[in-house]
Amino acid sequence: MLFAHDTECALVAAAALVNTVGDPDGLPDVAALDAFFATHGWSGRHEHTDAELRQVRALRPRLRRIWYADTDEVVAIVNGLLRESHALPQLVRHDDEPYHVHAVPQDAPLATRMAVEAAMAMADLVRMGELSRLRHCDHPDCDNVLVDLSRNRSRRFCEAGCGNRAAVSAYRARRAAASHS
Ligand SMILES: [Zn+2]
Ligand SMILES: [Zn+2]
Repeated sequence: MLFAHDTECALVAAAALVNTVGDPDGLPDVAALDAFFATHGWSGRHEHTDAELRQVRALRPRLRRIWYADTDEVVAIVNGLLRESHALPQLVRHDDEPYHVHAVPQDAPLATRMAVEAAMAMADLVRMGELSRLRHCDHPDCDNVLVDLSRNRSRRFCEAGCGNRAAVSAYRARRAAASHS
């Protein structure tokens, strides 16, 4: 494990949230947000409302910028998110999880908690000099971002199946080359 478990989970969730931006949008309605909430093990306040959905969707471009920013810009975004959310780090224990850090209460709005968890995790990356873990999918047709948590920094593709797509294209290219020789 490179980072604390809660940091790694928050990084993966932030990348997944950023990757819901697209056409079609990955968070089209409240049901999609419910599914995202469950998939990434969120707990606490969840309103199932359009207002909540709008707040979460509005957070995405801000988080996405982190993947395109240099260190000073990342710091500005992270500090801004923490300041606006009145973040106050506290060690907490809930459900079956061991002690970990929350910086806003569990009854804060979902979008606020998503913003703060992402910001706290990004703060860890900055402190450890590991912002290069924030990468872009290598597939030429893909705009997704990823977090490379592999020990040898070998991750190239996002979680949308681009690794498989690239392998299939490479296989077809080899077959085509072989049949022309
Ligand atoms: Zn928690
Ligand atoms: Zn991809």
